[in-house]
Amino acid sequence: MKNIIIFGAPGSGKGTYSDEIVTRYGMGHISTGDVLRGEIKQGSDIGKMAKELIDKGQLIPDDLMIQILAKTYDSLPQGCGVIFDGFPRTIAQAEALKLMLQERGHDMGVMVELIVDEDTLMERLLRRAQIEGRADDNVETIKKRFEVYHNQTEPLAAWFEKEGIRHTFTWEGSKDQMLANIFAFLDTLK
Ligand code: ATP
Ligand code: MG
Repeated sequence: MKNIIIFGAPGSGKGTYSDEIVTRYGMGHISTGDVLRGEIKQGSDIGKMAKELIDKGQLIPDDLMIQILAKTYDSLPQGCGVIFDGFPRTIAQAEALKLMLQERGHDMGVMVELIVDEDTLMERLLRRAQIEGRADDNVETIKKRFEVYHNQTEPLAAWFEKEGIRHTFTWEGSKDQMLANIFAFLDTLK
């Protein structure tokens, strides 16, 4: 499978759909949020720095994220395709991703954008807070994450549009329907 960049607001289902895509197409998966939560669990220097920012709903600096991303990408088997989940989140990260892949003779593949209304997002994140207990899933931090998303990440949609690889999927109330729409598109790429 080609590389896939899964893109959307906090709670839009990036992780959930990534798992389903990995199962269907057998590709690699890089969730930068999961990588950072792993560092926090280990108590590493990166983890300590990341925790402060994540708990405030802010982004980790681009240069650090870009390093982490390249290292994780190079640790995966080459040639099976990778889903980038939670990266890029800024224009600088997107430019760096494009360059990093170009240097390896690879490309970005396609971008899959998940569009979900904000009330649904808030509801989902608060439900997840009760199940997973993520420290950043509380109303105040969620609002900050939405703000950061609108200001720093959403403008990237137009960047992908210009790259000619943006494909948009809108939530209409059913996970099965959303998944069917995404699979119908990805099946055409195999
Ligand atoms: P969800 O997992 O529901 O899609 P989310 O997108 O907010 O929600 P993660 O992708 O797990 O969650 O990211 C959690 C936090 O980790 C972010 O709020 C941010 O602080 C940090 N983070 C993750 N990826 C990046 C990135 N590419 N650049 C900067 N910070 C990041
Ligand atoms: Mg996630």
